[in-house]
Amino acid sequence: MFADAVAGHKRQCVILSDAVARGRVAGAYLFAGPDGLGKKFIAIRLAKILNCLSCRDSAPCEKCESCRKINSGNHPDVLVVHPKGKERIINVALIGDVLKKVSRKSYEGRYKVIIFDDAHRMRKDSSNKLLKTLEEPPPGTVVILVTSRPDRLLPTIVSRCQTINFYLLSDKEIENFLVGMKKIPFEEAKAIASFAGGRISESLKLLSGDSARRRNIYLNNLRSVINGNLAVLFNVISVINSEFQKLLEESAADIKKEKQADGYEDFKEIRELIDAEAFSHVQYEKEEMLLIWQIWFRDMLLIKECGSGADIVNKSEKDALLRFSDGCGFDEILNCIKAVEHARDMVRFNVNFQIVLEEFFLDIIRNMGRKGVLT
Ligand SMILES: [Zn+2]
Repeated sequence: MFADAVAGHKRQCVILSDAVARGRVAGAYLFAGPDGLGKKFIAIRLAKILNCLSCRDSAPCEKCESCRKINSGNHPDVLVVHPKGKERIINVALIGDVLKKVSRKSYEGRYKVIIFDDAHRMRKDSSNKLLKTLEEPPPGTVVILVTSRPDRLLPTIVSRCQTINFYLLSDKEIENFLVGMKKIPFEEAKAIASFAGGRISESLKLLSGDSARRRNIYLNNLRSVINGNLAVLFNVISVINSEFQKLLEESAADIKKEKQADGYEDFKEIRELIDAEAFSHVQYEKEEMLLIWQIWFRDMLLIKECGSGADIVNKSEKDALLRFSDGCGFDEILNCIKAVEHARDMVRFNVNFQIVLEEFFLDIIRNMGRKGVLT
């Protein structure tokens, strides 16, 4: 089935597999919806199904020459176009190249499939150039525009495409995918799904060992502050700050490598761009840390309410949560949740992170810390 191997999006998969089964595949699709949902994955899956040499039940075999070439990005008739260059745009020259390839006879595929990733990064002149092809697509050509910002596309482009909207997944859909496809134990899948915010890409990131390791570090930091004194508090803040500084440098280096692969040589002129991208990556990670703490306090509140049988996310933390919830009242835990929410707002407003952490941890100690720490 088309939907096998795909997390959620059942209705969207049915629309596409019906079109394939009836031989009524549209010449142009617009896959619209937030980032991280698997839209490009589904576009590539459609390309595989259309060209697979032994496709059964609307699913690609993943073994034939065509499937293997698409998986390795080497199929001459299946193109995935990414925005390029310092401004990350799909410029008119790039569109020209792609259209030239489309106009040639198909090499080996039955269908030519062109997937534009982040299609909203097409400029007006590029859009107009593509429009001509969308108006009269060569037979056997399927253009798929993938975007999180359909509002930024020219209306004339949108009107030439069959739009398929994608929505954030439910926790249950992510959980089922992790258990079914990734063979993750149910409890762990449930915890990961609750952190993923409806995005399959997030859940895959959380699956990686590195992310699990960071989650443990973040929770350890929080517990040390609650158990410790002011000296511990300032020590933890300085550890967290230096970790994030390291992360900032690492992501800047990674982004530079990506740009290098895009053909960039003069990094002086795009320094600001690299810094901005690295900064937003680190901001995201800071919010993630606060989210992990927030869920931990929420679990504590649940335990306070429902006792040890509560259905909590952090199962492995149960003993610690029971201990902490024993020592403080319902209102104090609620205050801690409010403190995390406040800290997340401050991070979003770019308030100095040292100040955010100091204020947050002092709030936590006031509500949960050992008696006498602040007096
Ligand atoms: Zn195949």
